[in-house]
Amino acid sequence: MSKTKIKFIPYGRQVIDESDIKAVVKVLRSDWLTQGPAVRQFEESLAKYCNAEYAVAVSNGTAALHLAYLAAGLKAGDEVITTPNTFAATTNMLLAIGAKPVFCDIRLDNYNIDESKIETLITPKTKAIVPVHFGGHPCNMDKILSLAKRHNLLVIEDACHALGASYKNKKIGGIGDMSVFSFHPVKSITTGEGGAILTNSQDFYKKLLHLRTHGITKDADGFNVMTALGYNYRITDIQTALGISQLKKLGKFVKARQQVFNSYKTELASVKEISTPSISKNTVSANHLFVIRTKDPVKRNPLANFLKQNDIGVNFHYPMVYSHPYYRENGYQNVTLKNADLYHNSCITLPLYATLKIPEIKYICKKIKKFFTQNNP
Ligand SMILES: *Cc1c(COP(=O)(O)O)cnc(C)c1O
Repeated sequence: MSKTKIKFIPYGRQVIDESDIKAVVKVLRSDWLTQGPAVRQFEESLAKYCNAEYAVAVSNGTAALHLAYLAAGLKAGDEVITTPNTFAATTNMLLAIGAKPVFCDIRLDNYNIDESKIETLITPKTKAIVPVHFGGHPCNMDKILSLAKRHNLLVIEDACHALGASYKNKKIGGIGDMSVFSFHPVKSITTGEGGAILTNSQDFYKKLLHLRTHGITKDADGFNVMTALGYNYRITDIQTALGISQLKKLGKFVKARQQVFNSYKTELASVKEISTPSISKNTVSANHLFVIRTKDPVKRNPLANFLKQNDIGVNFHYPMVYSHPYYRENGYQNVTLKNADLYHNSCITLPLYATLKIPEIKYICKKIKKFFTQNNP
């Protein structure tokens, strides 16, 4: 048997170069490891990139979601409509403040929330819509924003996959009431751990800053007083120095990811046993993930196992949030959604990152084709 010289290919990974390393080392040699100038500079660069008024950088994307929900004034008993096709943190942070996630079905072309099914879920208790730009593909924001306006709801975007994406020539991050990003190593850019909230509202901005640091502020006499239940969700200068350096390369990363996406589309076009995602008109995707679906859900696990045996780090994004044991045991035992459940049982995430090479993509696609020829004699 001939051995292919392919090392294990992870589903995602960071790209770090010497300039990133230098930027971090410079902070280590300086007086400020945290709450110094780099945090502010990173926030300004992010806001500028996304064409938003304000950015607040925090310790991770989950903390960013928590603060965004708190700043929005969401509280116990409020309902929030969102997609089940997301990382659990999107709705975990709603549960953390006592709000109730209401799951809307998804589209099968780009795996985003099905905007046409949101309105029927709105009740007098609904306070916000939380769209997730799944895989970096922007949701139908025109439709979502007009729905929100008509029903007086906030739009808080979980944009953790979508830094670098745009919708109708507007960068994701400057569109809804607040947009949340993560800088975990698999995302568009990294700070190790890190996150941010972007907004055009000065009111939200002030609340976010306040809640990021314990809800403490100075009174008229200059004493520290705590006036809201806040947290320590600060990010460090070490991390944000890396972020500043990474952000300079974001355009390059997004282009490289786009090429990977296009190569997959071309290589897999002839494989009739699977479907691949399509990108909506007037949008630029950040191409965070490449998720295929087996048309026959029974083939999903065998294909995933076959690819794993061939050193391809496939993954599942995502198990529907309501299917997690914690959700099943806490009020979501009977939730089923047609497209979401079908997707849940048929999705496979293929590797996608900026430095994934064409021969690696060809290797992955060859293995997928081989699986189906072996299994369809
Ligand atoms: C990564 C991610 C988060 C959480 O971000 P962390 O930085 O890992 O806390 C939230 N939502 C989505 C959709 C994500 O992909």
